[in-house]
Amino acid sequence: MKSEADEPASRAGKNDAPKGTLYIVATPIGNLEDLSPRASNVLSKVDVVAVEDTRHSGRLLQHLGLQKRMIALHDHNERARAGSLLDELEAGLDVALISDAGTPLISDPGYVLVREARNRGLTVSPIPGPCAIVTALSAAGLPTDRFLFVGFLPAKRTGRRTALEELGQERATLVFYESPHRILDAMRDLVKVFGESREVVLGRELTKTFETFYSGGMGEVLEKLESDPHGTKGEFVVMVRGAEPVETGEECGALDVDRLIRLLMAELPVKKVARMAAELTGLSKNVLYQRALELKQD
Ligand code: SAM
Repeated sequence: MKSEADEPASRAGKNDAPKGTLYIVATPIGNLEDLSPRASNVLSKVDVVAVEDTRHSGRLLQHLGLQKRMIALHDHNERARAGSLLDELEAGLDVALISDAGTPLISDPGYVLVREARNRGLTVSPIPGPCAIVTALSAAGLPTDRFLFVGFLPAKRTGRRTALEELGQERATLVFYESPHRILDAMRDLVKVFGESREVVLGRELTKTFETFYSGGMGEVLEKLESDPHGTKGEFVVMVRGAEPVETGEECGALDVDRLIRLLMAELPVKKVARMAAELTGLSKNVLYQRALELKQD
């Protein structure tokens, strides 16, 4: 595909042999009608398609009536495969990178390839389209002026709670990806760390037949999920309203106190934690002592 009118202008210099372009092509996150005509056009014209999973992407290419040379590029072989793809680009072949769903590099492979392609001065051109983050945020009804995409939370409880605690005071809307088999555990930890009333919106099976949004306070949404027989099926985007501005002095919120207690407990015995937290917040030492014991049990 060397003479496309819409081809990026930043190709190799006039006297160099033309090098190939690396196209980063977004594909549907469920509904095949979301594949853009431009994406389809680029896929039909490139020489090679780098895919995460050849069987999965083979079905997409088959749906488009395309027979393409596919090269598997995933987390475990990206470094090695990137090298041979870069050689093909240098030799003048055009390559499209796609992932199993949505936009490549967004919690998907491709970083090593794109980084090295840019280092070598090759043209990297994005073909935009579906992405679960933006799809979910666009319909969630949460503030979108500032959001922080966190990707997948750690799989183990301790790591997950630590990661969440670090985000407790973040003011931007938080966005996580979560798999069906971990969504309940993740929601339980979210309730523990952010409290029952923090607003959350879950987008499940977006663009698919059973697309569902669950929204409300964390405790309420957890109950909805637990009582819905289909609640834990499918893929999820979890969106959490950012923290309210931190209050000081006597208006110190319960969540801040929990965070303070946790921080102090990492260094001090419970009695000292209660005394120090009482000093800092003006709250009752006994109440804080009890709360510290509860948190310690968690
Ligand atoms: N690159 C993709 C993108 O652009 O969104 C994301 C790939 S990441 C490996 C897969 C995760 O994205 C899923 O575990 C889920 O959290 C989220 N996701 C993908 N498709 C989704 C959908 N249709 N509905 C809800 N979440 C989805």
